Amino acid sequence: MRADLILTGFDEVVTLGVGSIPRIGSEMQELSRIDHGAIAIDRGKVAWTGRASFLKTEVTLRKGGSLRHFAGGTALPGFVDPHTHLVFHGSREEEVAQKVTGSSYLEIARRGGGLFKTVRETRAASQGELLSQARLRLQRMVRWGTTSLEVKSGYGLSLDTEMKLLRTIQRLSTKDGPTIVPTFLGAHAFPPEYEGCHQAYVKDLVGRQIPAVARSGMARFCDVFCEEGFFSAPESKHILRAATSAGLLAKIHADEFTECGGADVAVRVGALSADHVLQTGAKGRLALAKAGVTAVLLPITPFASLSGKASPGRAMVDAGVPVAIGTDLSPNSWVESMPLVIAHAVYGARLTPEEAITAATVNAAHAIGLDGSGRLVPGSSADIAVFDLPRAEHLAYRLGSLPPVAVYIRGARISPLPR
Ligand code: ZN
Repeated sequence: MRADLILTGFDEVVTLGVGSIPRIGSEMQELSRIDHGAIAIDRGKVAWTGRASFLKTEVTLRKGGSLRHFAGGTALPGFVDPHTHLVFHGSREEEVAQKVTGSSYLEIARRGGGLFKTVRETRAASQGELLSQARLRLQRMVRWGTTSLEVKSGYGLSLDTEMKLLRTIQRLSTKDGPTIVPTFLGAHAFPPEYEGCHQAYVKDLVGRQIPAVARSGMARFCDVFCEEGFFSAPESKHILRAATSAGLLAKIHADEFTECGGADVAVRVGALSADHVLQTGAKGRLALAKAGVTAVLLPITPFASLSGKASPGRAMVDAGVPVAIGTDLSPNSWVESMPLVIAHAVYGARLTPEEAITAATVNAAHAIGLDGSGRLVPGSSADIAVFDLPRAEHLAYRLGSLPPVAVYIRGARISPLPR
């Protein structure tokens, strides 16, 4: 076996190499761990993983190749963040005090704040401004170990402005950066200019926006915010059916504040994931499990909304639903760190530390159509996060407070951010 880069000296290497994709039930507990492990990389891909003591007999370093010795630590697949609203303009720090004193997300939005404030600011921003702000957030996400992510549009809510956001997402993709999966979320909310004529906006989405987005090739998924006061279950189904017939894959913001049929829509349109699912009941969980729809839990969102609710991690895993976790990075819950999400998935959503790592890697990759990513197996992209922690479960135990000491994307080490 030949390699141009060898990483060794770890206390533990977590490969997530064994098991079905996505992992379900007790499989989520199995991380495929190697004590005193090493990783051999060739041309940006994982070539070999195993115990460091076998390196000499099994791996030959190519001429000019390099070996890096870590004095302990844990190496994992880079994290996959399956749900982000990374591209937006401005910030909403004034809403924190409003939330603390009792305003809900929906009340703030109804007053024209929240999402609608971000829509106004994002519409007014140039593509250059959006790109430079999103790029900084993306760089910080990578420093926290994220090597693949989904990014949604959704703060434009008109064909022109949504296309501006999708072009921004496209320009965030670089050959040495993280893998980005783009999602069209024109159905994030009804734009203010369609007040009182919601059907006309649904018609615009289905008849004009979705066909144009699909033709542009700039989105892989179409998402809908299915919620009381936003898009109803029948509207969501209609929009997602139009999207899948245009060649886009479906995902859905489902049952976040009320159980309004979001999980059922996910099953009926063949969505790859149903996200949030905070209010989904036992019947909905069973339907998701039967259809194999991945539940993408966003455990920081109910925490940052001071809702007093926790994501239903334990209930979903026990029902046999494939579970993934993500940041939901947005101006409402501005979080760039997957280790922090892992901590909340454990202490809030009651996943075990092992389940949370599975949910942040291999299952998250499946939720955004990157099957096979989020693992360290021969042939997979050498996307790796190295933590100065003796075992993988310390990630949750240390409450996500420790950034990785090294991150590799396609075998290339990411340099620290300049101050
Ligand atoms: Zn979201």
